[in-house]
Formats: sequence, structure tokens, C-alpha cells
Amino acid sequence: MLVIGGGPAGMEAARVAAKRGHDVTLVEAADRLGGTMRFSALTTPDNEPMVHWMAHAIADARVDVQLATAATPAMVNGLNPDVVVVATGARRTLGPLAGAASVHGLPRLHTGDDLRALLDGGTSPAGATSDVAGGASIGAADGTVVDAPFGRTTRAVVSIGRRLGLLDSPSLVRALSRRWLPLGRRVVVVGGGLVGLELAEFLAARNRQVAVVDAGAQMGLPMALPRRWRTVRQASGHGVALVRDTTVEGLVPGGVAVRRGERTAIMPADDVVVAEGVQADTSLADALAADGRVVHVVGDAGGVGYIEGAVRTGHDVAMSL
Ligand SMILES: Cc1cc2nc3c(=O)[nH]c(=O)nc-3n(C[C@H](O)[C@H](O)[C@H](O)COP(=O)(O)OP(=O)(O)OC[C@H]3O[C@@H](n4cnc5c(N)ncnc54)[C@H](O)[C@@H]3O)c2cc1C
Repeated sequence: MLVIGGGPAGMEAARVAAKRGHDVTLVEAADRLGGTMRFSALTTPDNEPMVHWMAHAIADARVDVQLATAATPAMVNGLNPDVVVVATGARRTLGPLAGAASVHGLPRLHTGDDLRALLDGGTSPAGATSDVAGGASIGAADGTVVDAPFGRTTRAVVSIGRRLGLLDSPSLVRALSRRWLPLGRRVVVVGGGLVGLELAEFLAARNRQVAVVDAGAQMGLPMALPRRWRTVRQASGHGVALVRDTTVEGLVPGGVAVRRGERTAIMPADDVVVAEGVQADTSLADALAADGRVVHVVGDAGGVGYIEGAVRTGHDVAMSL
């Protein structure tokens, strides 16, 4: 059995299948396990023990883990597994702002994956938006390739930090990022869901002046209560400005053009983080199924369901095999 993706969905599927007697190989494009959950441990420290527990549990279960290995249909056909579990996570795009990604003089534009790649030490999901340490390009929503938002010096510093082992644990990265974070003073986060609010709080706690802009009247959807209240309150408590009922129209020199009803304004920004536009992504699973493979999709790849949904779907599929 082949599991593709080492986030919570893939790790749970691999762990349970191996415990049930399957011969399991897990391939992960990044050079460490944890997927987006590992990144989430930067903003939500409570998630970190789970990252470590799951990584140890699949080692105990004798799963053959192959890191820095991006699965492709050709590679899977070469391995010829009897079952494939695709746990490659969601796709994050820059949405309508993609066209502004590389325009000189505008604020720098990032997705959550760019920040993940930066703070994780340059590892990024295969086929996702960027690879900070290894490359200098990002694939925008419309398929165009543009310059990566972080420059050569930043990538070199991150690469050195990674080689020194400074990025090995989320808690260490949390501490180091209080001293060094290559983002300007003013950051606008587009999207006031769980990820946007948590990133905003993380950045505000690192002395950034942060605003979250959301088109809706309520922040924190679709989080359940009381976590929604808590996350919104914590973000405001760190001084994050929450700007509701407001749409982002585009980037302009020095900021972000926004609209509320008939009124327009410019919000000052050095960096803009897009924390919305997260979509399930079954492209790899579809290609494998077209080759006649038995394929199961788990986690955010099949439908964005956060860590709980990822673990549950990974578990259920492994139990059904
Ligand atoms: C900042 C932030 C904070 C968050 N906070 C929370 C939170 O507090 N609570 C919560 O429940 N959720 C949170 N989330 C969301 C949560 O992290 C994800 O929903 C969850 O990790 C999804 O799990 P997954 O296994 O489906 O995918 P992922 O965790 O995204 O893992 C997918 C893995 O597949 C790998 N991969 C992709 N393509 C390939 C390929 N071709 N070959 C091999 N490997 C591949 C990727 O490198 C990645 O490691 C947060 C997310 C972010 C960005």
C-alpha cells in the first residue's frame, strides 16, 4: 500500500493500515513529516505534541517513510502498489491577486504555503505555490509562474538555519521568529478564517502592525464556538485590526486597495498574506485513477476539514482496507 503525503491524514492512514498488517510505504515531498499541521503548530503550539506523536507512531508501526520524495503518476506506476491513499492536502492560491504577484513596487504577496516554506526551512508541498529555499518561482492560480516573494538573502539565511537544525522544531522556530522574520512592519492578511486569524496573531506578537480583511460580516468562520470567539479575541488582544464587510480590490504601491459598499480606501502594507482560497485538490488522485489504480483520497485533498477531518478520514480509509 502506498500513502502519498505525510500530513495528519496520511500519517494516520499509514499508522492504522500498518497496525492492521499492511505493508505500507509513505512518501512525503517535504524533508520532514507533519504537513500543514506542523506549520499550524507555529501559530497553535498545542498542535505540536500531536505532530511528534504521529511521527513516532508511524515509526513504531514500521511504516517505510520516504522523505523528500514527490509522488507522480509515473513514479506510482513504477512502484505498482495494490492500493494508493492520496493525502496531499489542499491547494492554496493567490486568487484574484495572482496578477500582482511579481509587480515591482507593490507590496509582497504570499500564500500560507510561502510562509510555511519559509518557516519550515524551505520545504513546500509538491505542486504547491512556492519553494523558498530550493527555487524562486511560484505558480499562480492562472498557471503563470512569477518570482518568489522572498529574496536570495532570505533564502540563504533560511537554508543555513535549516542545515544547523534551527528549524527542526516548531517551538524553536516560534522562538527564533521573534528575533528574525523577513516581513515588513505592516502586514495585511486577506481572509479572516482560522488560518488568517492565527497567522495575524502570530505576526502581531512579532511586532508587526497587522490588519485582517474579510468580505463577510463575521470573522472566524467556519470555526465552531467557543473557539471562534477565543481566536477572534486573541487576535484583537494582540492589536490586530479586524476589517469586516470589506473586499480587496488589488494591490497598489504601498498598500492594498479595499472597498466597503461604495467607499474605497488604501490600507498601508509592506506584505500581504492571502489566507483564503483553500481548495480540495484531487488532481493527483484523478490522474492515478485514470491509470486504473485503486485510489482513496483523505484529508484536505478530498475536502478541507482541518486536523480533525484529516485524522478521521485517514483512519476510516485504513480501517476499510
Ligand atoms: C497557519 C495554519 C494554522 C492552522 N491551525 C489549525 C488548527 O489550529 N487546527 C486545525 O484543525 N487545523 C489547523 N490548520 C489546518 C490544518 O493544518 C490542515 O487542515 C491539516 O494539516 C490537513 O491535513 P492533511 O494531512 O489533509 O494535509 P497536509 O497537512 O497539508 O499534508 C499534506 C502533505 O502532503 C505532501 N504532499 C503534497 N503533494 C505531494 C506529492 N505529490 N508527493 C508527496 N507528498 C506530497 C505535502 O508536502 C504535505 O506534507 C491550520 C493551517 C494553517 C496553514
